[in-house]
Amino acid sequence: MNAVTSLIPQLDALRAGFLAREHRLFVNGRWVPAQSGQSFEVLDPSTGKHLARAAAGEAVDVDAAVKAARAALETGAWPKLTHAERARLIFKLADAVERNADELALIESLDGGNPLRSTRNVDVHLGVESLRYNAGWATKLTGETALSSPQSRSFTFTLREPIGVVGAITPWNAPFLMAVNKIGPALAAGCTVVLKPAELAPLSALRLAQLIEEIGFPPGVVNVVTGFGHTAGQALVDHPDVNKISFTGSTRVGKSIVTGSAAHMKRITLELGGKSPVVVFPDADIEAATQAVSRTIFFKTGQFCMAGTRLFAHEKVFDKIASGFEDLAGKVKIGPGVAPDTEMGPIISQKQLDRVLGYIAASAKDGAEIVTGGKRVDREGFFVEPTLLANVRPEMSVFQDEIFGPVLCATPFKDASELDRLAQYANDTSYGLAANIWTRDISNAIGLARRIKAGNITINGGAREQSMPLGGFKQSGIGREGGRDGVEAYTELKIVSVGL
Ligand code: NAD
Repeated sequence: MNAVTSLIPQLDALRAGFLAREHRLFVNGRWVPAQSGQSFEVLDPSTGKHLARAAAGEAVDVDAAVKAARAALETGAWPKLTHAERARLIFKLADAVERNADELALIESLDGGNPLRSTRNVDVHLGVESLRYNAGWATKLTGETALSSPQSRSFTFTLREPIGVVGAITPWNAPFLMAVNKIGPALAAGCTVVLKPAELAPLSALRLAQLIEEIGFPPGVVNVVTGFGHTAGQALVDHPDVNKISFTGSTRVGKSIVTGSAAHMKRITLELGGKSPVVVFPDADIEAATQAVSRTIFFKTGQFCMAGTRLFAHEKVFDKIASGFEDLAGKVKIGPGVAPDTEMGPIISQKQLDRVLGYIAASAKDGAEIVTGGKRVDREGFFVEPTLLANVRPEMSVFQDEIFGPVLCATPFKDASELDRLAQYANDTSYGLAANIWTRDISNAIGLARRIKAGNITINGGAREQSMPLGGFKQSGIGREGGRDGVEAYTELKIVSVGL
Protein backbone atom coordinates (compact mmCIF):
# COMPACT_ATOMS: atom_id res chain seq x y z
CA MET A 1 0.00 0.00 0.00
CA ASN A 2 1.42 3.39 -1.00
CA ALA A 3 1.57 6.08 1.63
CA VAL A 4 -1.22 8.42 0.61
CA THR A 5 -0.60 11.04 3.29
CA SER A 6 2.11 12.62 1.14
CA LEU A 7 -0.44 13.43 -1.56
CA ILE A 8 -2.38 15.92 0.53
CA PRO A 9 -0.06 18.94 -0.09
CA GLN A 10 -0.81 18.58 -3.82
CA LEU A 11 -4.49 19.31 -3.20
CA ASP A 12 -4.18 23.08 -3.07
CA ALA A 13 -2.28 23.19 -6.35
CA LEU A 14 -4.92 20.95 -7.90
CA ARG A 15 -7.77 23.16 -6.69
CA ALA A 16 -6.07 26.33 -7.96
CA GLY A 17 -5.03 24.73 -11.26
CA PHE A 18 -6.80 21.82 -12.93
CA LEU A 19 -10.07 22.07 -10.98
CA ALA A 20 -10.47 25.83 -11.38
CA ARG A 21 -10.00 25.63 -15.15
CA GLU A 22 -12.93 26.02 -17.51
CA HIS A 23 -12.97 22.46 -18.85
CA ARG A 24 -13.55 21.96 -22.53
CA LEU A 25 -14.14 19.04 -24.88
CA PHE A 26 -11.17 17.27 -26.45
CA VAL A 27 -12.00 16.95 -30.14
CA ASN A 28 -9.55 16.32 -32.97
CA GLY A 29 -6.58 17.04 -30.71
CA ARG A 30 -7.90 20.46 -29.64
CA TRP A 31 -9.70 21.76 -26.56
CA VAL A 32 -12.99 23.32 -27.64
CA PRO A 33 -16.06 24.61 -25.76
CA ALA A 34 -19.41 22.89 -26.27
CA GLN A 35 -20.96 24.47 -29.37
CA SER A 36 -23.98 25.51 -27.28
CA GLY A 37 -21.62 27.32 -24.89
CA GLN A 38 -23.24 25.38 -22.02
CA SER A 39 -21.43 23.77 -19.12
CA PHE A 40 -22.50 21.85 -16.00
CA GLU A 41 -21.42 21.82 -12.39
CA VAL A 42 -19.47 18.87 -10.97
CA LEU A 43 -20.01 18.41 -7.23
CA ASP A 44 -17.71 17.03 -4.55
CA PRO A 45 -19.79 14.20 -3.01
CA SER A 46 -18.02 14.51 0.33
CA THR A 47 -19.33 18.08 0.77
CA GLY A 48 -22.16 18.32 -1.76
CA LYS A 49 -20.48 21.54 -2.92
CA HIS A 50 -18.93 22.87 -6.13
CA LEU A 51 -15.82 21.07 -7.37
CA ALA A 52 -15.49 22.06 -11.05
CA ARG A 53 -17.38 22.86 -14.24
CA ALA A 54 -17.31 20.74 -17.39
CA ALA A 55 -18.55 21.49 -20.92
CA ALA A 56 -22.01 20.13 -21.71
CA GLY A 57 -21.41 18.47 -25.06
CA GLU A 58 -24.47 17.62 -27.15
CA ALA A 59 -25.27 15.91 -30.47
CA VAL A 60 -23.45 18.52 -32.53
CA ASP A 61 -20.26 18.10 -30.46
CA VAL A 62 -20.53 14.32 -30.65
CA ASP A 63 -20.88 14.63 -34.41
CA ALA A 64 -17.68 16.70 -34.62
CA ALA A 65 -15.86 14.15 -32.46
CA VAL A 66 -17.10 11.21 -34.54
CA LYS A 67 -16.01 12.97 -37.76
CA ALA A 68 -12.55 13.51 -36.23
CA ALA A 69 -12.38 9.87 -35.14
CA ARG A 70 -13.44 8.69 -38.61
CA ALA A 71 -10.84 10.88 -40.33
CA ALA A 72 -8.14 9.69 -37.92
CA LEU A 73 -9.12 6.08 -38.55
CA GLU A 74 -9.02 6.29 -42.32
CA THR A 75 -6.83 9.12 -43.50
CA GLY A 76 -4.64 10.37 -40.66
CA ALA A 77 -1.31 9.19 -39.31
CA TRP A 78 -2.91 6.49 -37.13
CA PRO A 79 -3.53 3.77 -39.77
CA LYS A 80 -0.02 4.36 -41.15
CA LEU A 81 1.68 3.45 -37.87
CA THR A 82 3.18 -0.01 -37.60
CA HIS A 83 1.71 -2.22 -34.89
CA ALA A 84 4.88 -1.73 -32.87
CA GLU A 85 4.58 2.06 -33.13
CA ARG A 86 0.95 1.86 -32.01
CA ALA A 87 1.98 -0.33 -29.08
CA ARG A 88 4.73 2.14 -28.15
CA LEU A 89 2.23 5.00 -27.93
CA ILE A 90 -0.03 3.00 -25.61
CA PHE A 91 3.00 2.04 -23.48
CA LYS A 92 3.93 5.73 -23.36
CA LEU A 93 0.42 6.54 -22.17
CA ALA A 94 0.80 3.92 -19.41
CA ASP A 95 4.10 5.55 -18.37
CA ALA A 96 2.49 9.00 -18.37
CA VAL A 97 -0.38 7.74 -16.21
CA GLU A 98 2.14 6.17 -13.83
CA ARG A 99 4.13 9.41 -13.58
CA ASN A 100 0.93 11.33 -12.84
CA ALA A 101 -0.68 8.64 -10.70
CA ASP A 102 -0.83 10.76 -7.54
CA GLU A 103 -2.60 13.62 -9.25
CA LEU A 104 -4.99 11.31 -11.08
CA ALA A 105 -5.84 9.57 -7.81
CA LEU A 106 -6.53 12.91 -6.12
CA ILE A 107 -8.82 13.98 -8.96
CA GLU A 108 -10.60 10.63 -8.83
CA SER A 109 -11.03 10.80 -5.04
CA LEU A 110 -12.39 14.35 -5.13
CA ASP A 111 -14.73 13.66 -8.02
CA GLY A 112 -16.06 10.21 -7.09
CA GLY A 113 -15.49 10.34 -3.33
CA ASN A 114 -13.53 7.09 -3.10
CA PRO A 115 -10.63 6.85 -0.63
CA LEU A 116 -7.18 7.77 -1.92
CA ARG A 117 -5.84 4.40 -0.85
CA SER A 118 -8.21 2.75 -3.34
CA THR A 119 -8.06 5.31 -6.17
CA ARG A 120 -4.22 5.37 -5.97
CA ASN A 121 -3.56 1.68 -5.33
CA VAL A 122 -6.48 0.11 -7.16
CA ASP A 123 -8.04 2.32 -9.85
CA VAL A 124 -4.97 4.16 -11.15
CA HIS A 125 -2.61 1.26 -10.52
CA LEU A 126 -4.88 -1.15 -12.40
CA GLY A 127 -5.30 1.49 -15.11
CA VAL A 128 -1.53 1.43 -15.73
CA GLU A 129 -1.54 -2.38 -15.74
CA SER A 130 -4.50 -2.43 -18.11
CA LEU A 131 -2.82 -0.05 -20.59
CA ARG A 132 0.39 -2.10 -20.55
CA TYR A 133 -1.48 -5.38 -20.92
CA ASN A 134 -3.46 -4.08 -23.89
CA ALA A 135 -0.46 -2.34 -25.49
CA GLY A 136 1.07 -5.82 -25.80
CA TRP A 137 -1.87 -6.98 -27.91
CA ALA A 138 -1.19 -4.35 -30.60
CA THR A 139 1.66 -6.56 -31.83
CA LYS A 140 -0.02 -9.90 -31.23
CA LEU A 141 -3.51 -9.78 -32.72
CA THR A 142 -3.53 -12.22 -35.59
CA GLY A 143 -5.93 -14.15 -37.74
CA GLU A 144 -5.63 -17.85 -38.50
CA THR A 145 -5.08 -20.11 -41.45
CA ALA A 146 -8.41 -21.85 -41.91
CA LEU A 147 -8.54 -25.52 -42.72
CA SER A 148 -9.50 -25.88 -46.40
CA SER A 149 -10.19 -29.34 -47.74
CA PRO A 150 -7.90 -30.31 -50.67
CA GLN A 151 -10.92 -30.65 -53.00
CA SER A 152 -11.80 -26.98 -52.48
CA ARG A 153 -8.51 -25.95 -54.14
CA SER A 154 -8.46 -22.91 -51.92
CA PHE A 155 -6.21 -21.32 -49.40
CA THR A 156 -8.19 -19.51 -46.72
CA PHE A 157 -7.09 -17.26 -43.91
CA THR A 158 -8.73 -14.89 -41.43
CA LEU A 159 -7.84 -11.30 -40.61
CA ARG A 160 -8.70 -9.29 -37.53
CA GLU A 161 -9.41 -5.73 -38.59
CA PRO A 162 -10.20 -2.73 -36.37
CA ILE A 163 -13.95 -2.51 -35.81
CA GLY A 164 -13.83 1.23 -36.57
CA VAL A 165 -14.97 4.23 -34.58
CA VAL A 166 -15.77 3.25 -31.00
CA GLY A 167 -18.18 5.15 -28.76
CA ALA A 168 -17.05 4.48 -25.19
CA ILE A 169 -19.56 5.38 -22.47
CA THR A 170 -18.43 5.05 -18.85
CA PRO A 171 -20.02 5.19 -15.37
CA TRP A 172 -19.10 7.28 -12.32
CA ASN A 173 -18.09 4.56 -9.90
CA ALA A 174 -14.66 3.83 -11.43
CA PRO A 175 -14.44 6.46 -14.15
CA PHE A 176 -10.69 6.40 -14.74
CA LEU A 177 -10.29 2.63 -14.83
CA MET A 178 -13.38 2.15 -16.99
CA ALA A 179 -12.07 4.73 -19.47
CA VAL A 180 -8.64 3.11 -19.87
CA ASN A 181 -10.20 -0.37 -19.93
CA LYS A 182 -11.96 0.73 -23.12
CA ILE A 183 -9.39 3.05 -24.69
CA GLY A 184 -6.47 0.58 -24.27
CA PRO A 185 -7.91 -2.41 -26.16
CA ALA A 186 -9.66 -0.19 -28.73
CA LEU A 187 -6.35 1.50 -29.62
CA ALA A 188 -4.46 -1.79 -29.55
CA ALA A 189 -6.91 -3.11 -32.13
CA GLY A 190 -6.34 -0.02 -34.29
CA CYS A 191 -9.68 1.70 -33.60
CA THR A 192 -10.32 5.35 -32.80
CA VAL A 193 -12.44 6.44 -29.85
CA VAL A 194 -15.00 9.00 -28.73
CA LEU A 195 -15.25 8.76 -24.94
CA LYS A 196 -18.33 10.05 -23.09
CA PRO A 197 -17.54 9.94 -19.36
CA ALA A 198 -20.27 10.01 -16.70
CA GLU A 199 -21.54 13.50 -15.93
CA LEU A 200 -21.23 12.82 -12.18
CA ALA A 201 -17.46 12.18 -12.38
CA PRO A 202 -15.95 13.37 -15.67
CA LEU A 203 -12.68 14.93 -14.44
CA SER A 204 -10.15 12.08 -14.58
CA ALA A 205 -11.12 11.44 -18.23
CA LEU A 206 -10.21 15.06 -19.00
CA ARG A 207 -6.84 14.71 -17.27
CA LEU A 208 -6.30 11.48 -19.22
CA ALA A 209 -7.03 13.39 -22.45
CA GLN A 210 -4.36 15.93 -21.49
CA LEU A 211 -1.85 13.08 -21.17
CA ILE A 212 -2.99 11.66 -24.52
CA GLU A 213 -2.36 15.08 -26.07
CA GLU A 214 1.05 15.48 -24.37
CA ILE A 215 2.47 12.19 -25.55
CA GLY A 216 1.47 12.83 -29.15
CA PHE A 217 -1.32 10.53 -30.30
CA PRO A 218 -2.43 11.74 -33.75
CA PRO A 219 -5.38 14.17 -33.54
CA GLY A 220 -8.81 12.52 -33.49
CA VAL A 221 -7.58 9.10 -32.31
CA VAL A 222 -9.06 9.72 -28.86
CA ASN A 223 -11.75 12.37 -28.32
CA VAL A 224 -13.49 13.15 -25.04
CA VAL A 225 -16.96 14.68 -25.02
CA THR A 226 -18.30 15.43 -21.54
CA GLY A 227 -22.05 15.86 -21.18
CA PHE A 228 -25.25 14.17 -20.08
CA GLY A 229 -26.38 10.66 -20.91
CA HIS A 230 -29.66 11.56 -22.59
CA THR A 231 -27.92 14.11 -24.85
CA ALA A 232 -24.23 13.34 -25.51
CA GLY A 233 -24.48 9.63 -24.63
CA GLN A 234 -27.63 9.09 -26.68
CA ALA A 235 -26.13 11.01 -29.63
CA LEU A 236 -23.17 8.64 -29.65
CA VAL A 237 -25.48 5.61 -29.62
CA ASP A 238 -27.63 7.09 -32.42
CA HIS A 239 -24.74 8.28 -34.59
CA PRO A 240 -24.72 6.42 -37.93
CA ASP A 241 -20.93 6.56 -38.26
CA VAL A 242 -20.08 4.92 -34.91
CA ASN A 243 -19.29 1.24 -35.42
CA LYS A 244 -19.33 0.03 -31.84
CA ILE A 245 -20.62 1.14 -28.46
CA SER A 246 -18.62 -0.07 -25.50
CA PHE A 247 -20.76 0.71 -22.49
CA THR A 248 -20.32 0.25 -18.76
CA GLY A 249 -23.22 1.33 -16.62
CA SER A 250 -26.66 0.38 -15.43
CA THR A 251 -28.78 -2.38 -16.91
CA ARG A 252 -31.56 0.17 -17.52
CA VAL A 253 -29.39 2.30 -19.81
CA GLY A 254 -27.77 -0.85 -21.25
CA LYS A 255 -31.20 -1.92 -22.52
CA SER A 256 -31.70 1.45 -24.23
CA ILE A 257 -28.32 0.99 -25.89
CA VAL A 258 -29.38 -2.39 -27.27
CA THR A 259 -32.43 -0.70 -28.81
CA GLY A 260 -30.57 2.39 -30.01
CA SER A 261 -27.76 0.39 -31.61
CA ALA A 262 -30.18 -1.65 -33.69
CA ALA A 263 -30.82 1.13 -36.23
CA HIS A 264 -27.29 0.86 -37.64
CA MET A 265 -26.53 -2.62 -36.30
CA LYS A 266 -23.70 -1.29 -34.15
CA ARG A 267 -21.56 -3.81 -32.34
CA ILE A 268 -22.02 -3.56 -28.59
CA THR A 269 -20.24 -4.60 -25.45
CA LEU A 270 -22.28 -4.05 -22.31
CA GLU A 271 -20.84 -4.28 -18.80
CA LEU A 272 -23.87 -3.82 -16.59
CA GLY A 273 -25.09 -4.17 -13.04
CA GLY A 274 -24.89 -7.02 -10.58
CA LYS A 275 -26.38 -8.42 -7.38
CA SER A 276 -23.75 -10.97 -6.60
CA PRO A 277 -24.15 -13.83 -4.11
CA VAL A 278 -21.56 -14.85 -1.52
CA VAL A 279 -22.06 -18.44 -0.34
CA VAL A 280 -20.26 -19.45 2.86
CA PHE A 281 -20.20 -23.14 3.81
CA PRO A 282 -19.67 -24.16 7.46
CA ASP A 283 -16.17 -25.53 6.79
CA ALA A 284 -14.88 -22.24 5.32
CA ASP A 285 -12.16 -20.00 6.75
CA ILE A 286 -14.77 -17.83 8.45
CA GLU A 287 -12.32 -15.11 9.46
CA ALA A 288 -11.15 -14.66 5.85
CA ALA A 289 -14.70 -14.85 4.48
CA THR A 290 -15.95 -12.23 6.97
CA GLN A 291 -13.11 -9.87 6.07
CA ALA A 292 -13.77 -10.32 2.36
CA VAL A 293 -17.55 -9.95 2.66
CA SER A 294 -17.07 -6.71 4.63
CA ARG A 295 -14.38 -5.27 2.35
CA THR A 296 -16.52 -5.72 -0.74
CA ILE A 297 -19.31 -3.70 0.92
CA PHE A 298 -16.98 -0.90 2.14
CA PHE A 299 -15.03 -0.79 -1.17
CA LYS A 300 -16.35 2.16 -3.19
CA THR A 301 -19.12 2.39 -0.57
CA GLY A 302 -20.80 -0.59 -2.21
CA GLN A 303 -20.89 1.29 -5.55
CA PHE A 304 -19.07 -1.57 -7.20
CA CYS A 305 -20.61 -3.74 -9.91
CA MET A 306 -19.15 -7.00 -8.56
CA ALA A 307 -19.87 -6.31 -4.87
CA GLY A 308 -21.08 -9.46 -3.10
CA THR A 309 -24.27 -7.97 -1.71
CA ARG A 310 -26.28 -11.14 -1.03
CA LEU A 311 -24.76 -13.26 1.70
CA PHE A 312 -25.89 -16.88 2.10
CA ALA A 313 -24.14 -18.33 5.10
CA HIS A 314 -24.70 -21.73 6.69
CA GLU A 315 -26.72 -21.39 9.89
CA LYS A 316 -23.75 -22.70 11.97
CA VAL A 317 -21.58 -19.74 10.90
CA PHE A 318 -24.20 -17.10 10.09
CA ASP A 319 -24.11 -15.30 13.45
CA LYS A 320 -20.32 -15.25 13.53
CA ILE A 321 -20.13 -13.61 10.10
CA ALA A 322 -22.94 -11.18 10.93
CA SER A 323 -21.29 -10.08 14.16
CA GLY A 324 -17.89 -9.89 12.42
CA PHE A 325 -19.41 -7.57 9.80
CA GLU A 326 -21.07 -5.48 12.49
CA ASP A 327 -17.76 -5.14 14.29
CA LEU A 328 -15.83 -4.10 11.17
CA ALA A 329 -18.63 -1.76 10.07
CA GLY A 330 -18.40 -0.03 13.45
CA LYS A 331 -14.68 0.54 12.98
CA VAL A 332 -14.48 1.52 9.29
CA LYS A 333 -13.27 5.09 8.92
CA ILE A 334 -15.87 7.05 6.99
CA GLY A 335 -14.87 10.40 5.49
CA PRO A 336 -13.93 12.37 2.39
CA GLY A 337 -11.98 10.42 -0.20
CA VAL A 338 -8.97 12.72 0.10
CA ALA A 339 -8.59 12.38 3.90
CA PRO A 340 -5.62 10.03 4.31
CA ASP A 341 -7.24 7.71 6.85
CA THR A 342 -10.58 7.33 5.05
CA GLU A 343 -11.59 3.75 4.33
CA MET A 344 -15.12 4.40 3.05
CA GLY A 345 -16.20 7.55 1.22
CA PRO A 346 -19.58 9.07 0.40
CA ILE A 347 -22.25 7.99 -2.05
CA ILE A 348 -21.86 9.84 -5.36
CA SER A 349 -24.94 12.13 -5.17
CA GLN A 350 -27.97 13.16 -3.13
CA LYS A 351 -30.22 11.27 -5.57
CA GLN A 352 -28.22 8.08 -5.18
CA LEU A 353 -28.12 8.49 -1.38
CA ASP A 354 -31.93 8.88 -1.27
CA ARG A 355 -32.21 5.75 -3.41
CA VAL A 356 -30.03 3.72 -1.01
CA LEU A 357 -31.94 4.95 2.06
CA GLY A 358 -35.22 4.25 0.24
CA TYR A 359 -34.25 0.62 -0.33
CA ILE A 360 -33.28 0.19 3.32
CA ALA A 361 -36.58 1.70 4.52
CA ALA A 362 -38.58 -0.48 2.11
CA SER A 363 -36.81 -3.62 3.30
CA ALA A 364 -37.60 -2.81 6.95
CA LYS A 365 -41.26 -2.39 6.00
CA ASP A 366 -41.15 -5.77 4.24
CA GLY A 367 -39.87 -7.45 7.40
CA ALA A 368 -36.08 -7.32 7.09
CA GLU A 369 -34.10 -6.68 10.26
CA ILE A 370 -31.58 -3.81 10.19
CA VAL A 371 -28.79 -5.46 12.18
CA THR A 372 -26.42 -2.53 11.85
CA GLY A 373 -26.32 0.81 10.02
CA GLY A 374 -29.25 1.92 7.91
CA LYS A 375 -28.92 5.66 8.47
CA ARG A 376 -27.40 8.69 6.82
CA VAL A 377 -24.19 9.78 8.56
CA ASP A 378 -24.69 13.08 10.34
CA ARG A 379 -22.20 15.27 8.47
CA GLU A 380 -22.09 17.30 5.25
CA GLY A 381 -21.88 15.31 2.02
CA PHE A 382 -23.67 12.16 0.95
CA PHE A 383 -22.60 9.62 3.57
CA VAL A 384 -24.48 6.49 4.66
CA GLU A 385 -23.61 3.88 7.28
CA PRO A 386 -22.50 0.40 6.21
CA THR A 387 -25.63 -1.65 6.62
CA LEU A 388 -26.46 -5.28 7.33
CA LEU A 389 -29.99 -6.49 6.64
CA ALA A 390 -31.05 -9.91 7.94
CA ASN A 391 -34.21 -11.95 7.25
CA VAL A 392 -34.03 -10.91 3.63
CA ARG A 393 -36.26 -12.98 1.35
CA PRO A 394 -36.00 -13.36 -2.45
CA GLU A 395 -39.26 -11.53 -3.10
CA MET A 396 -37.93 -8.32 -1.50
CA SER A 397 -36.61 -5.53 -3.72
CA VAL A 398 -33.36 -5.35 -1.70
CA PHE A 399 -32.70 -8.97 -2.67
CA GLN A 400 -33.49 -8.42 -6.36
CA ASP A 401 -32.27 -4.91 -7.24
CA GLU A 402 -28.79 -3.51 -7.46
CA ILE A 403 -28.80 -0.92 -4.66
CA PHE A 404 -25.30 0.47 -5.33
CA GLY A 405 -24.66 1.37 -1.72
CA PRO A 406 -22.94 -0.29 1.29
CA VAL A 407 -25.82 -2.68 2.00
CA LEU A 408 -25.36 -6.39 2.68
CA CYS A 409 -28.46 -8.60 2.57
CA ALA A 410 -28.01 -11.77 4.60
CA THR A 411 -29.88 -15.07 4.69
CA PRO A 412 -28.89 -18.34 6.46
CA PHE A 413 -29.18 -21.79 4.88
CA LYS A 414 -29.50 -25.21 6.55
CA ASP A 415 -28.27 -27.94 4.26
CA ALA A 416 -24.80 -27.61 2.72
CA SER A 417 -25.29 -30.76 0.63
CA GLU A 418 -28.18 -29.34 -1.39
CA LEU A 419 -26.16 -27.61 -4.09
CA ASP A 420 -29.13 -27.32 -6.46
CA ARG A 421 -31.14 -25.43 -3.86
CA LEU A 422 -28.20 -23.18 -3.03
CA ALA A 423 -27.59 -22.46 -6.70
CA GLN A 424 -31.27 -21.71 -7.18
CA TYR A 425 -31.06 -19.14 -4.41
CA ALA A 426 -27.84 -17.68 -5.78
CA ASN A 427 -29.32 -17.47 -9.29
CA ASP A 428 -32.65 -16.01 -8.21
CA THR A 429 -32.16 -12.49 -9.66
CA SER A 430 -32.04 -11.10 -13.19
CA TYR A 431 -28.28 -10.45 -12.79
CA GLY A 432 -25.32 -12.74 -13.35
CA LEU A 433 -22.13 -10.73 -13.00
CA ALA A 434 -20.19 -12.38 -10.16
CA ALA A 435 -20.37 -14.88 -7.30
CA ASN A 436 -18.11 -15.78 -4.40
CA ILE A 437 -17.89 -19.18 -2.75
CA TRP A 438 -16.16 -19.98 0.54
CA THR A 439 -15.51 -23.62 1.44
CA ARG A 440 -12.61 -26.04 1.91
CA ASP A 441 -14.59 -28.79 0.19
CA ILE A 442 -13.48 -28.85 -3.44
CA SER A 443 -16.58 -30.76 -4.59
CA ASN A 444 -18.92 -28.18 -3.10
CA ALA A 445 -16.77 -25.34 -4.46
CA ILE A 446 -16.61 -26.59 -8.05
CA GLY A 447 -20.10 -28.10 -7.93
CA LEU A 448 -21.61 -24.75 -7.00
CA ALA A 449 -19.39 -22.75 -9.36
CA ARG A 450 -20.69 -24.93 -12.22
CA ARG A 451 -24.30 -24.32 -11.20
CA ILE A 452 -24.13 -20.55 -10.69
CA LYS A 453 -24.98 -18.44 -13.73
CA ALA A 454 -22.40 -15.66 -13.47
CA GLY A 455 -19.43 -14.47 -15.49
CA ASN A 456 -16.90 -14.11 -12.65
CA ILE A 457 -16.72 -16.63 -9.85
CA THR A 458 -14.17 -16.61 -7.05
CA ILE A 459 -13.55 -19.46 -4.64
CA ASN A 460 -11.94 -18.58 -1.30
CA GLY A 461 -11.07 -15.07 -2.45
CA GLY A 462 -9.34 -15.86 -5.76
CA ALA A 463 -7.99 -12.70 -7.41
CA ARG A 464 -8.65 -11.06 -10.78
CA GLU A 465 -5.96 -9.90 -13.17
CA GLN A 466 -5.94 -7.85 -16.37
CA SER A 467 -5.48 -10.96 -18.47
CA MET A 468 -8.89 -12.25 -17.39
CA PRO A 469 -12.05 -11.41 -19.30
CA LEU A 470 -14.82 -9.78 -17.27
CA GLY A 471 -18.49 -9.77 -18.07
CA GLY A 472 -21.92 -10.90 -17.11
CA PHE A 473 -24.49 -13.60 -17.74
CA LYS A 474 -28.19 -12.70 -18.02
CA GLN A 475 -28.97 -9.00 -17.57
CA SER A 476 -25.44 -8.19 -16.36
CA GLY A 477 -24.26 -7.63 -19.88
CA ILE A 478 -23.26 -8.73 -23.34
CA GLY A 479 -19.68 -9.63 -24.29
CA ARG A 480 -16.48 -9.48 -22.27
CA GLU A 481 -13.98 -6.77 -21.40
CA GLY A 482 -10.39 -7.64 -20.54
CA GLY A 483 -8.10 -10.44 -21.68
CA ARG A 484 -7.81 -11.55 -25.28
CA ASP A 485 -11.61 -11.66 -25.67
CA GLY A 486 -11.71 -8.02 -24.61
CA VAL A 487 -9.30 -6.87 -27.36
CA GLU A 488 -10.87 -9.07 -30.02
CA ALA A 489 -14.19 -7.41 -29.24
CA TYR A 490 -12.74 -4.30 -30.96
CA THR A 491 -12.09 -6.23 -34.19
CA GLU A 492 -14.12 -7.61 -37.07
CA LEU A 493 -13.19 -11.07 -38.29
CA LYS A 494 -12.74 -11.34 -42.04
CA ILE A 495 -12.24 -14.53 -44.01
CA VAL A 496 -10.25 -14.42 -47.25
CA SER A 497 -10.39 -17.44 -49.51
CA VAL A 498 -7.95 -17.67 -52.42
CA GLY A 499 -8.73 -20.10 -55.25
CA LEU A 500 -5.63 -22.03 -56.24
P1 NAD B 1 -25.68 4.84 -15.84
O1 NAD B 1 -26.19 3.73 -16.68
O2 NAD B 1 -26.64 5.77 -15.23
O3 NAD B 1 -24.68 5.76 -16.70
C1 NAD B 1 -23.55 5.22 -17.33
C2 NAD B 1 -23.17 6.11 -18.48
O4 NAD B 1 -24.21 6.09 -19.45
C3 NAD B 1 -22.98 7.58 -18.11
O5 NAD B 1 -21.90 8.11 -18.83
C4 NAD B 1 -24.28 8.21 -18.56
O6 NAD B 1 -24.17 9.57 -18.87
C5 NAD B 1 -24.58 7.40 -19.81
N1 NAD B 1 -25.98 7.40 -20.23
C6 NAD B 1 -27.09 7.59 -19.48
N2 NAD B 1 -28.20 7.54 -20.25
C7 NAD B 1 -27.76 7.27 -21.50
C8 NAD B 1 -28.43 7.07 -22.74
N3 NAD B 1 -29.75 7.14 -22.85
N4 NAD B 1 -27.69 6.79 -23.83
C9 NAD B 1 -26.34 6.71 -23.75
N5 NAD B 1 -25.65 6.90 -22.60
C10 NAD B 1 -26.36 7.18 -21.50
O7 NAD B 1 -24.73 4.12 -14.80
P2 NAD B 1 -24.00 4.80 -13.59
O8 NAD B 1 -25.06 5.09 -12.60
O9 NAD B 1 -23.09 5.88 -14.06
O10 NAD B 1 -23.05 3.61 -13.07
C11 NAD B 1 -23.47 2.64 -12.21
C12 NAD B 1 -23.80 1.38 -12.95
O11 NAD B 1 -22.68 0.90 -13.68
C13 NAD B 1 -24.17 0.25 -12.02
O12 NAD B 1 -25.30 -0.42 -12.49
C14 NAD B 1 -22.95 -0.66 -12.07
O13 NAD B 1 -23.20 -1.99 -11.74
C15 NAD B 1 -22.51 -0.49 -13.47
N6 NAD B 1 -21.10 -0.90 -13.62
C16 NAD B 1 -20.83 -2.11 -14.22
C17 NAD B 1 -19.51 -2.55 -14.34
C18 NAD B 1 -19.18 -3.87 -15.01
O14 NAD B 1 -18.02 -4.10 -15.35
N7 NAD B 1 -20.14 -4.75 -15.22
C19 NAD B 1 -18.47 -1.76 -13.87
C20 NAD B 1 -18.78 -0.54 -13.26
C21 NAD B 1 -20.11 -0.12 -13.16
